[in-house]
Amino acid sequence: MIVAIDGPSGSGKSSVAREVARRCGLTYLDTGAMYRSVAHACLERGVDPADDAATAEVARGLAIEFLPDGEGQRVIAGGEDVTAQIRTPEVERAVSPVSANPAVREAMVAAQRRFGETGDVIAEGRDIGTVVFPAADVKVFLSASPEARARRRAVQRGGGDLARGVGADVDAKEERAVLEALVRRDAYDSSRAASPLRPAADAARIDSSELPFEEVVRAVIALSPELSARAERGQR
Ligand code: C5P
Repeated sequence: MIVAIDGPSGSGKSSVAREVARRCGLTYLDTGAMYRSVAHACLERGVDPADDAATAEVARGLAIEFLPDGEGQRVIAGGEDVTAQIRTPEVERAVSPVSANPAVREAMVAAQRRFGETGDVIAEGRDIGTVVFPAADVKVFLSASPEARARRRAVQRGGGDLARGVGADVDAKEERAVLEALVRRDAYDSSRAASPLRPAADAARIDSSELPFEEVVRAVIALSPELSARAERGQR
C-alpha cells in the first residue's frame, strides 16, 4: 500500500510518517531529504542553485539511498553520508530554488516512484498526493499554524523533540529567525509553478497545531481499515 503525507515544513509530517511507518510496518520515504541532497551536492560542487541546467544535471546523476539506522535512517547521496549536512541553514536556503526546477523534480519523482514499487511505503513531502502517487491508498495533508511550526523546528534544532515530549532551551530571537525562514520557504514552495505545495482534493486534512503527537498518529491510522489492521497486528 502507499500512504502519502504532505504539508509545510514543521507541520510534524516527518515524525508522524516515521511513527506510522513503525507501527504499521511500512517503509518510510523522506522526499525532502532527496531535494536537500541535491541542494547540498550543488553547493559542494560550486553549482549555483539558480542555474537550472546545471542543477538538473546534478540531480540526474545523483544516486540517493536511505540506510536503516536504529530508529532512524541515514541519507547517502553519491556514496557520501550526508545525513547531518543536509539539515544546515545553507542547504535550507538553497533547497527552494533547486526544488522549483521542473527538471530536478522530474528526476526526483521518477526515483520516488521506483521506491514506491518496492512494497508498502509511506512517503512524505509536498507533492506526494498530488503528483508522485495520485492513486495513493491514503492521503493526508498535515498543517499547523506558523507559530507552532516555528516552535517545533527551533526545539528540534536545540536538540529536543516535541513529538517525544523532549524539550530544549530556545531563545525568543532564535524562534523568530526560524519563523521568518520558514514563512519564506513556505511562500516559495506554495507559489512556484512546478508542483506547488497544496492539498490533493481527496486528502484528509489534519491541523496539528493543538493536537498532541499521539493523537495525530492515531488520526492518520484511523483513516484506513488497512492501516488500523496493520497497527493492531504490530501491537500484538
Ligand atoms: O520536508 P523538508 O523541509 O525536508 O523539505 C525541504 C524542501 O524540499 C522544501 O522546502 C521544498 O522546497 C522541497 N520539497 C519539495 N517537494 C517534496 C519535498 C520537499 O519541493 N516532495
